[in-house]
Amino acid sequence: MTDTFVVVGGDAAGMSAASKAKRDDPDLEVVVFEKGEWVSYGACGLPYYVKGEIQSLEALVSVTPEEFREERDIDLRTGHEVVAIDPDERTVTAESESGSVVQSYDHLLLATGAEAVVPPIDGIDREGVYTLGSMSDGKELREYVARARDGESFQQPDRGPACQYLEDCTGPVGIVGGGYIGLEMAEALAANGFEVHLFQRGDRVLTGFSEATSEAVADHLREQDVTVYLESEVAALEGGGAVQGGDADEAGAVETVVTADERVDVEMVLVGTGVRPRTDLAEAAGVELGPTGAVATDDYCETNVPDVYAAGDCAEATHTVTGDPVYVPLALTANRHGRAVGQTVAGQPTEGGDVAGTAAVKAFEVEAARTGILDHDDALEAGFEPVTETVDAKSRAGYYPEGGTVTVTLTADRDSGRVLGASLVSEYGEGAVHRSHAVVGALEAEATVFELENYDLAYAPPFNTTWDPVLVAAKVLA
Ligand code: FAD
Repeated sequence: MTDTFVVVGGDAAGMSAASKAKRDDPDLEVVVFEKGEWVSYGACGLPYYVKGEIQSLEALVSVTPEEFREERDIDLRTGHEVVAIDPDERTVTAESESGSVVQSYDHLLLATGAEAVVPPIDGIDREGVYTLGSMSDGKELREYVARARDGESFQQPDRGPACQYLEDCTGPVGIVGGGYIGLEMAEALAANGFEVHLFQRGDRVLTGFSEATSEAVADHLREQDVTVYLESEVAALEGGGAVQGGDADEAGAVETVVTADERVDVEMVLVGTGVRPRTDLAEAAGVELGPTGAVATDDYCETNVPDVYAAGDCAEATHTVTGDPVYVPLALTANRHGRAVGQTVAGQPTEGGDVAGTAAVKAFEVEAARTGILDHDDALEAGFEPVTETVDAKSRAGYYPEGGTVTVTLTADRDSGRVLGASLVSEYGEGAVHRSHAVVGALEAEATVFELENYDLAYAPPFNTTWDPVLVAAKVLA
């Protein structure tokens, strides 16, 4: 009899698994339940959709529902929310507008993703307060920007260099959180002429990156006329009408961001304070969570419940350097782990693979990347004695007409010389992000700085100096 593979969640992890399983074993019955209307979408592109560089939400979709159904023979059911799993009976129950269905499975993948954290700030329910986690969030934000650009009830302050599209500018707006979504949205909103105020609880933006990277990015934000408030926890979002605890419909629009030191008038607020894994369904079915709060899995992405797998933003992964469970909700992990599960259920057991915590961000005209372990306490806890150097190096040959500086922070273990992590920042286009990949290779190979400094990296004047900035950093540390 044909096996049935059921997938809960129709984005990166879920559709990678479904597609791979069906491709490798065309006899497998593959059923995907997705509670929303969108599948296989690139949430990573949403800031650029809000900015106006991408014209439609449809452009963010890599494979349409029709293509999954007709070309890939996947039984995709959008508008179906899985509300219960019965591991003993091996069934899931899904609800849709047309009622409830019970579907049996032989293999089950939980690919339920993550949701935006909404911090318990007084007034967070007010009108004009947004998050950016889903396609519908992106749609709402784009509509907000479009309304504002039509000039409805907006001031027109004199704005600086970020105001690319408009002669007259709008604003002011607040962003809560200095992580990658906060920074990408600062760019998207400033490019549309908004006066941007960014509030960060900690003492620097991009806390997972090196201090040198954080400082370079914050300096650049200021050059772009973004007002950056560090060590500024938002205490309340004030405005007219009812606040949190009251009826959200009655909550008046946000008017002021309040911190211990500041009161800043705003016309909207974007909250980008991280994501949390969607685990309710898993927990209710007896699936165990790990120390990070995401679903715990083994090397094959299988949970403690036999034949139930978890992949993507709802699940933990294993760190390349420490071997410990980590929660790094990023797109490649979701695609890779989903694909591995698809291959496994199609008959070829495949490990999901470790993650090094490699991440990249563009903010206005700077780019930054990080990988591995940078935090000294984390390194000490993992049994290393970290030593760190930061170098500034030219991005291209000195005589080449263009170019800038790449700042590389490299961390290694003092005794063994093993490379532990790196953070890089440069002007956009000067290669910080692509250069980080050499360090990722070193992490995967458990290479030392002595080995990294001898990596045979490509060289030509338009791309680097003879000694690429990564090699320069390794030499300094060796
Ligand atoms: P999701 O994409 O969250 O999909 C989970 C799906 O499951 C959702 O469609 C949801 O509706 C569905 N679902 C949940 N529960 C149920 C249920 N009970 N029944 C049925 N369906 C259900 N990552 C990067 O690597 N680089 C980036 O630059 C980057 N930028 C980003 C920018 C933004 C604005 C956002 C929001 C994310 C960004 N990410 C980025 C993260 C990346 O989008 C995620 O890592 C990736 O989408 C995770 O895929 P997933 O399939 O695990 O989960």
